[in-house]
Amino acid sequence: TRTLLTGGSGFIAAHILDALLKRGHSVVTTVRSRQKAEQIATSHPGVSKKNLDFVIVPDISAPDAFDQAVISDPPFETVIHTASPFHFRVDDVKKDLLDPAINGTVGLLKAVRNHAPSVKRVVVTSSGAAILDFSKPQTYTFTDADWNNMTWEEAISNPLNAYRASKVFSEKAAWDFVEREKPQYSLASINPPMVYGPVVHYINDLDGLNTSNERIRDIAFGKAKDGCPLTGVFLWVDVRDLALAHVLAMEKPEAAGQRFLVSPGHYSNKDIVKGIWEAFPELREGLPMGDALTPGAFPPEGWYGYDSTKSKKVLGVTYRPLKECIIDTVNSLKPFVK
Ligand code: NDP
Repeated sequence: TRTLLTGGSGFIAAHILDALLKRGHSVVTTVRSRQKAEQIATSHPGVSKKNLDFVIVPDISAPDAFDQAVISDPPFETVIHTASPFHFRVDDVKKDLLDPAINGTVGLLKAVRNHAPSVKRVVVTSSGAAILDFSKPQTYTFTDADWNNMTWEEAISNPLNAYRASKVFSEKAAWDFVEREKPQYSLASINPPMVYGPVVHYINDLDGLNTSNERIRDIAFGKAKDGCPLTGVFLWVDVRDLALAHVLAMEKPEAAGQRFLVSPGHYSNKDIVKGIWEAFPELREGLPMGDALTPGAFPPEGWYGYDSTKSKKVLGVTYRPLKECIIDTVNSLKPFVK
């Protein structure tokens, strides 16, 4: 299948790209600059231009950002949309987080409808943030049928809220678009909670690491020694399982019109510390211990339930254990430690 993958320079997209190529799909990926295209090409030396090509989309907030990108020869049959800001280096939450997420998603769906009639399936990387509604009682079990009902006022009140809102508003806008416009393609969304895993995308140094893996970096390399960070969202998924889930949602007819909460289960930052302690004796010195570990613990009163059964039943995803994820992540970061 000929696939358009947006945001190819990202942490998750790099794994999706590898999963696509491995399963025999040919890929065009959008990146913001020629330099980013070259970095990806360099890390895939044996892959021909026919199977891996690039198109420059400098800013997904622009209304016509994807109009050219969706046109390809041979034409696209599928699209996977990962590009969306996930960082907190923001001056203006609307301009920096909400606009690119929402305009990017709707702009892409419009461009595909108008200019890529051969596309049959679009998969969007949404988030657990579009599902988890923290106003619910802690005894609640979230499924793919739930929505985070955040308001615009809540959204713009701080960058973390704005990020969570960017995911729920953009995913809602996608489903609304499909319902209203009835395009030639069907939509599926993948909703991951915290994503961890080995870094295969290009990074300059550990300061340029993607947001979710920063936590493993900080714990592994001494920054959290005096105080383990709060866990926040006590659900996780390995980036490799998540990548495969995207490709399966793209391939499987039965995924049409579905949202998929993808997670093997609960975890806490304390579990991350434990995994590193056991596998990397040389890093023990820098790990939080005793009282410093307490903020990272799983809440004694428990945390929300989750149901990711549909991801296993419909997509056939299987999930790696946390320990394997932590070991592979730390090993991928070690070469960057100065
Ligand atoms: P990354 O920051 O590594 O990837 C984000 C990608 O989006 C990059 O390719 C980035 O390009 C691109 N992008 C961001 N803003 C713009 C913009 N304004 N114009 C063009 N491109 C842009 O993060 P992840 O890989 O973690 O995130 C990928 C997706 O997964 C996002 O949609 C995110 O919301 C979602 N997600 C991630 C989770 C996680 O824990 N990691 C959890 C749930 C959802 P560039 O590299 O050039 O900046």
